Amino acid sequence: MLTATLGSYGSRGNVYAEANAIDQTAVDRAISSINETGVPNILTLYFMGNDHYAHKTAGDSDVVQRSYLKSSLDGHIGRLVTAIEQHGVMDKTAFVIVADHGHTNTVADADHAIELEGRSNMELEYLIESVCENGGCYDVKDTLLEASYSAVTGLNGGMAYIYVRNRANDDWTKPARYEKDVLAMANAFYQANQTGRYSGAAAKNFDFIKGRVDMILVRDTESSNTFDGPPYVVYTGKNAQGQHQTESVPSWLARNPRPGYLRMDERLQGLTRGHSASRTGDIILIPKYGEEADPDDRSYFGEELESWHGGISQDDLKIPLIVARPGAPKSATFAKVSSEVSAIPMHSDVPKIILKLLEDAPRRQ
Ligand SMILES: [Zn+2]
Repeated sequence: MLTATLGSYGSRGNVYAEANAIDQTAVDRAISSINETGVPNILTLYFMGNDHYAHKTAGDSDVVQRSYLKSSLDGHIGRLVTAIEQHGVMDKTAFVIVADHGHTNTVADADHAIELEGRSNMELEYLIESVCENGGCYDVKDTLLEASYSAVTGLNGGMAYIYVRNRANDDWTKPARYEKDVLAMANAFYQANQTGRYSGAAAKNFDFIKGRVDMILVRDTESSNTFDGPPYVVYTGKNAQGQHQTESVPSWLARNPRPGYLRMDERLQGLTRGHSASRTGDIILIPKYGEEADPDDRSYFGEELESWHGGISQDDLKIPLIVARPGAPKSATFAKVSSEVSAIPMHSDVPKIILKLLEDAPRRQ
């Protein structure tokens, strides 16, 4: 039912139209490909519309997403199912539906959004560029075309990455200096979060971030001279002797329980290994966003949006897993999937599930 009304979300009808057009186009292309060359062994489709709609539509994100799934995506998937049926391979087809993240409800205004450049108040750019000790003031990349810069932010809602360049050799391909670059920057965030002030910019007010950050994570890639391996630890400020202090994530969490930060240490370690290791920030900022029950108490990094993701909150982490095999009894499908994954499957288990399901698939010669 593509024409279903959106009830109270009607005023955001243009957002619905944009989202629906994205998913409609994806399914249209899949169907024309099937009609041209037959049903492939594996077909992957990414539906971006739900994400777009949830970010920009006011109201409880679960309710908003359900309304979109019903009024838009359900119909599109139905068209795809019909196309597969028409090729006579339905009893040899398995459908796996999974999401890459959930959504956490947020308040879409400048008070809750921590951005690179504030509209009226000073935000991350001003704080980062106030860090001048140990080698000249940082210059953050604040426009797409800016060619020369020494700091980069990756603002992704429930988490922010801060990348700092080694100001001794100005080489982005090499790890930054741990103490002089990474910890110097972490300390600016720590001070501003604690007091709204930073000693490197005494006259400036950084209230935009005061009390909004839950954890500041850093990692020492300098000692090992590689991005792959060094774990993130929690930055806890300077001691009385002026030395930077850090603590392991498990130890910090033992002192400051965060029951909603599911499997945090394990998941953080995943960011420091393999192909993603060189892409994660020198500093990770975790906003107060995961444990706060009231969206009004949550802060996030990036654009002002009605819901966000990208963090370690429960709402960001819990995702659906739907497996349907029209040609097989439900109990057989359940047994097949269960044999591959633990009682609580992780997103990373999905490839294993697909490989298992393919055992029954026809192979194209
Ligand atoms: Zn998104």
